[in-house]
Amino acid sequence: MKILTYPNKKLKQKSHKVRKVDEEIRQLAYDMLKIMKVNKGVGLSAIQVDKPIKLVVTGYEPPEDANGKTLKKLKDNEVIPTLILINPKITKKSRETDIMEEGCLSLPNIEVPVKRSIKANILATDLEGHRIKIRAKGLFARVLLHEIDHLDGILITDHGRPVALAKNGRVDKKGIKKT
Ligand SMILES: [Zn+2]
Repeated sequence: MKILTYPNKKLKQKSHKVRKVDEEIRQLAYDMLKIMKVNKGVGLSAIQVDKPIKLVVTGYEPPEDANGKTLKKLKDNEVIPTLILINPKITKKSRETDIMEEGCLSLPNIEVPVKRSIKANILATDLEGHRIKIRAKGLFARVLLHEIDHLDGILITDHGRPVALAKNGRVDKKGIKKT
């Protein structure tokens, strides 16, 4: 499994709805979680691994040292839960926004300041077909909105101009490459 990178036109496709969760979808979701973690991302959409379907994964688990002490927490101790979301949909977005520089595993060398709602409600289903209602705020809301953008073929470069170029991919002060 390989992550598609810009300017691959496939990233601009709109993803279609998942009609039925079968073994293939489940395996894809687990593989995506794996590849996201390996690449130090905090979110990944199926379109980024060349599957244009509405499937998104998120998650960040801070590494621990040998004594089980948590290292590299996210800024302000924000938490990104590990989730597999099928057909995620935004049901509400706050009018209040903020701007943060975002990276993307599909645009490894740039970051772009993106204005987004600071809160968002998302409706999705899990692999068992149960409805999931999420009321996200802060970084978690931002990650979900970023991933749902991917499902519509929208990249961070559609939100603004890149501000940084790094040779070996963008890794922030905490060693986290973003979504
Ligand atoms: Zn992305």
